[in-house]
Amino acid sequence: MSDYKNKWEEYKAKNGATPLDLFKVRDQNITHAEMQRRYDICKGCPMFVGLTKQCRECGCFMGMKVKIDKARCPLGHWEPYEGEPEEIELDNPSE
Ligand code: SF4
Repeated sequence: MSDYKNKWEEYKAKNGATPLDLFKVRDQNITHAEMQRRYDICKGCPMFVGLTKQCRECGCFMGMKVKIDKARCPLGHWEPYEGEPEEIELDNPSE
């Protein structure tokens, strides 16, 4: 395995997800309450950069990372979500 691939494997093991996972909507099986809980933890963390809403430890944009069910905080402040996803109700387009 190349060093490059090893680095991404290490990153994924530490963070539960990679930046590419942000674009996989099927990996966003999580509730709004859990997303908010995670984000509130990040906002109170010294590694959180308020200006860009990024984490200094993983470099992720936290408004997006908290939506990924498999993601985890690299420092162990929150873990992957293992509960049921939230039902999303869509407006009826025929109304
Ligand atoms: S992911 Fe973890 S280390 Fe990064 S800002 Fe959130 S709580 Fe802090």
